[in-house]
Amino acid sequence: MAGLAAFSGYWSQGVTLHFFLHLFIGSIAGLSILIVVSRFKPGVVEYEYLFPFLGWLFAATPELFVVSDRHPTWTDIFLGHVSADEIMENSPMILIYLSIVVVALLAAYVKLRPKNQ
Ligand SMILES: [Zn+2]
Repeated sequence: MAGLAAFSGYWSQGVTLHFFLHLFIGSIAGLSILIVVSRFKPGVVEYEYLFPFLGWLFAATPELFVVSDRHPTWTDIFLGHVSADEIMENSPMILIYLSIVVVALLAAYVKLRPKNQ
């Protein structure tokens, strides 16, 4: 529900690609952490859907800090938010690459997650 509300906000401003950029980057971070943590703490699988969601929330946090149509440079600590924006301005095809990484990490997690849950 929060994701849908956020997407409609991006949609209304005509920056939907920006939404997907930070969704993919946050999901990559969350899924990577999930894959590592689930190897050592199998009980975490109960909360597996939270990891990509929290990753996305962290990556999108700089949306709260917008000064004159730009994010302050310090917001780059949120998974390279400002840097990712600059890369996408020059090469929107990065979204295809990031979506492939998300799908690969999902497949890896499904393959590697503890079986006795
Ligand atoms: Zn932003």
